[in-house]
Amino acid sequence: MAAKIIDGKAIAAQIRAEVRQETATLKEQHGIVPGLAAVIVGDDPASRIYVNNKRKACAEVGFYSEEHALPATTSQAELLAQVRDLNARPDIHGILVQLPLPEPLNAQEVLDTIDPAKDVDGFHPVNMGRLVLGLPGFVPGTPLGVLELLKRAEIDLKGKHAVVVGRSNTVGKPTALLLLAQHATVTLCHSRTVDLPGVCRSADVLVVAIGRAQMVRGDWIRPGATVIDVGINRVEGKVVGDVHFPSAVEVAGAITPVPGGVGPMTVAMLLRNTLQAARQSVPPR
Ligand code: NDP
Repeated sequence: MAAKIIDGKAIAAQIRAEVRQETATLKEQHGIVPGLAAVIVGDDPASRIYVNNKRKACAEVGFYSEEHALPATTSQAELLAQVRDLNARPDIHGILVQLPLPEPLNAQEVLDTIDPAKDVDGFHPVNMGRLVLGLPGFVPGTPLGVLELLKRAEIDLKGKHAVVVGRSNTVGKPTALLLLAQHATVTLCHSRTVDLPGVCRSADVLVVAIGRAQMVRGDWIRPGATVIDVGINRVEGKVVGDVHFPSAVEVAGAITPVPGGVGPMTVAMLLRNTLQAARQSVPPR
């Protein structure tokens, strides 16, 4: 029997509608319009597309947004000064610096300079540390999107074995921490994991974020397991995930498609983080 499809496109649209409504309420009650500033350096075409998508999404939910497109020749000092300017602006609640930055710019130093209260991408060490400690803070959009998909698809995590493949700081590692916070028993795999197919087969919930087109096949999946495919790979002009969908869909209990799974959730969760940052800027009465 084919798996239930977890429709990330529909769930993301629902979240954007919620954010739009809550933004209207914030404006009505406190006169605050959430403001998001994106800083982009150089002319990487993929980065341009991402920033344009974020700008459109902001307009759709009623946010103010602005873009700072800096030339590839921008110095580290100039970039840090731009971030500090945005830190000081009361109308800007969220700041994101589009990665990767061109050489020889130091991305970590730039991320460390963003005010943690405006770090809606959740990459600042303070927010990462809060996640490790189980304290409230900003969590990166993709891992947050993975958890939101599981929640809205009503997948029970408590006591379940969750296997995350990929340990990047932006996706795999924070996803593992979020699953742990939901009381899953978590295994975090990477390129040195021994018998990866065997470990995957022991998963009740399998999250794959490796950047290898269609590597995880149906025979790596326990019948009835939930499979979340974070991968985005371009193969012969088509976008495919890290999971081989045609074989996986026959075995899994529930699965996200690519495109239309985790992808649309990332921007939706960024919007939600920005709304939260704006709310937290309301002075206590
Ligand atoms: P990274 O390249 O930063 O990390 C990849 C991880 O996968 C590493 O931990 C690496 O292990 C592991 N890995 C690579 N090859 C193998 C292998 N053969 N077996 C086991 N583990 C392996 O990638 P990201 O985390 O940034 O992205 C992962 C995927 O998710 C990509 O396809 C990316 O395009 C997609 N993505 C999608 C987003 C969305 O919005 N849906 C957002 C961000 C990313 P090691 O650490 O040992 O090198």
